[in-house]
Amino acid sequence: MIGHMGTSTTLDLLVEGRIATLAGETGFGWVEAIGIASGRVVAAGSRRDVEALAGAKTRRLDMAPDEVVLPALRDAHIHLVEAARTVNQVDLSGTATLAAGLEILAQAHRRLPDGAWLEGTGWDVARWGDWPTAADLDRVVAGRPAFLWSRELHQVWVSSAAMAAAGIEATTIDPPDGRIRRDESGRPTGMLHEGASKLVTRHAPEPTREWLASAIEAYCRRLLAYGIVAVDDLAQLVPDVDLTGGIATVRDLADGGRLPVRVHASIRTEALSGAIEGGFRSGAPLGESDRARFGWLKIFGDGSLFSRTAFLIEPWESDDERGAPPTGPRGLPTTTAAEMAELASRAAARGIATAIHAIGDATVRAALDALAPVAGSTAVPNRIEHLQFVDPRDVGRFGELGIVASVQPIHLRGDARWARVGLGGRAERIGYPWRTVAGHGGMLAFGADAPYEDVDPWPGLAIAVTRSDPSWPPGDVFGAHEALTLDMAVRAHCLHPALAAGEPDRGGLGPGYWADVMVVPAAAVDEPTVRGGALSTTRPRLVLEAGEVVFER
Ligand SMILES: [Zn+2]
Repeated sequence: MIGHMGTSTTLDLLVEGRIATLAGETGFGWVEAIGIASGRVVAAGSRRDVEALAGAKTRRLDMAPDEVVLPALRDAHIHLVEAARTVNQVDLSGTATLAAGLEILAQAHRRLPDGAWLEGTGWDVARWGDWPTAADLDRVVAGRPAFLWSRELHQVWVSSAAMAAAGIEATTIDPPDGRIRRDESGRPTGMLHEGASKLVTRHAPEPTREWLASAIEAYCRRLLAYGIVAVDDLAQLVPDVDLTGGIATVRDLADGGRLPVRVHASIRTEALSGAIEGGFRSGAPLGESDRARFGWLKIFGDGSLFSRTAFLIEPWESDDERGAPPTGPRGLPTTTAAEMAELASRAAARGIATAIHAIGDATVRAALDALAPVAGSTAVPNRIEHLQFVDPRDVGRFGELGIVASVQPIHLRGDARWARVGLGGRAERIGYPWRTVAGHGGMLAFGADAPYEDVDPWPGLAIAVTRSDPSWPPGDVFGAHEALTLDMAVRAHCLHPALAAGEPDRGGLGPGYWADVMVVPAAAVDEPTVRGGALSTTRPRLVLEAGEVVFER
């Protein structure tokens, strides 16, 4: 027996089979049985020892021989408001042709009331073969304002009515951070690249509070099907300055008993003063219910890989196809190191921990420098988001300073190509250094950055252990030396994100932990990464939160 919490306890629930407790520093910590009482694991060990604690009223969880139990997952980086808004968006991700997309859009158009905006996502120019146009869209949405994000969210396809609402015409000039696609005569075609997308999307009506609440509730219920029982929301893209948007909605949902997963909700820099005045503290409940808690101050340190706006120590490689990087040869910080340090210390003095978005190695270094003076001073640790490129001199500092490395393995699927284009020979040497950071004592916390990537955590877990993806050319591996062992990857998706959120009694299944449990096919751990392996397509059959069934397939 690994241990138990007092022999007087009678078990509410007994789980027998192959159960990963994640006890100890490494490995899965397999046991034959766990006993659950009052929502927590109270005993873990051999079948015989745990069964001895069962009484007449103890329920038993039946497992098939080809199933295992793992701790349920936590997504450490999501944008809940933006993700929830996708609930009512038209999904074009399954369409191979423009015609198939138009058919789905025609149906959606018929369902919507007159005048309502039609929103969607998921079309893919690589599959459709050519850029669709406003004229294509007008044929099926007849005068309705409509905008449809591409699969990778770098452009929107808009209807003529949407362009009219935004005042886009032949004379409209391109914004500095984007491009309006035009025909030979200079007329906009209905395709807005990068920052030009905002010309239209900012005109779409904001959802009402109740609409947003229902969408967040529905979206969070979907997460349970993947085994996710908690998420860390890394703040809205539109700064919620007066704290009446996402954070208030999540609080109200929790207080009303309508929040299917536990949420830590964060703020942008613009809302820091309001959060300090309101007495928000990282890890503390937002309202009556402890299911919604305050997360982090989120600071943007730089831009992105694809756009080559991330800030690097050495210049970006030259790119004949796209010309010079838009913000200079090394990219640019969007917040200076001094500003980041000032914000982090102001926040820490009031019990608010900081999370810094840092893609380039120069920004990762600046973020580590900014957080070093406040390391360990908040109940919830500080963290750095993404850290896609880390100079070898900085890899040990995450462990030294106790700064969480919040990474999204699924990003590597689409990023590998752009990393090699943008950083050349450096890409695999300093890119996505998960094993090295963990090897130097840094704590990895996994998320998917939904809605910018699909929220499904399982393909990301597979990428973390293979450093490869079925969508890549056969045999292609990106930085094989950075591959994690399977137990390291699993820990990064449950135990570590819980610790990173200041919840040391979640994410494992040893005695004392909350019984957040999922039952998955054994193949997920026994043959996880055989080509097209079981790990990337895993779906739990059963998910429990605090010992209660919250999802059953
Ligand atoms: Zn994000």
